[in-house]
Amino acid sequence: MNDCIFCKIVSGDLPSYKLYEDDDVLAFLDIAPVHPGHILVIPKKHFKNFEEVPEDTLCKLIKVVKKLGLALKNGMGYEAYNIGENNDPLAGQIVPHLHFHIIPRKENDGLQLWPQKEYAEGEAQEVIEKIKKFL
Ligand code: 5GP
Ligand code: ZN
Repeated sequence: MNDCIFCKIVSGDLPSYKLYEDDDVLAFLDIAPVHPGHILVIPKKHFKNFEEVPEDTLCKLIKVVKKLGLALKNGMGYEAYNIGENNDPLAGQIVPHLHFHIIPRKENDGLQLWPQKEYAEGEAQEVIEKIKKFL
């Protein structure tokens, strides 16, 4: 896509700190890291979100995420990381080119995960039935 910043990073029209590249996958540093070493892993081809990307490409992406997660721990001395994918704008996706975040974590770094609730009586069963219809 012409106006996509990640497509421009793939083509070399925009600079990036590249960590890994093969025929299908590119990984580079996030320009605004949670901590140094925050990595983005993207398909070279433009797919908007998780539903659009073909399964074989997804498998290639997740293998790179695994390889880089370990390298991030070993290279930077982190003990943990979060893997994230903001799927669609309502979920916080700003760049509409599928990408996985590998976010390094430090003890007491203050990064909050999501707040949680409880199910009401019978609600979990209703939820199961609604979702399973589409499997
Ligand atoms: P999203 O909210 O779409 O999941 O995350 C997009 C990420 O892309 C953000 O963490 C943001 O810092 C990063 N980002 C946005 N523009 C650029 C850019 O031009 N170069 C790089 N390396 N990262 C970018
Ligand atoms: Zn793109």
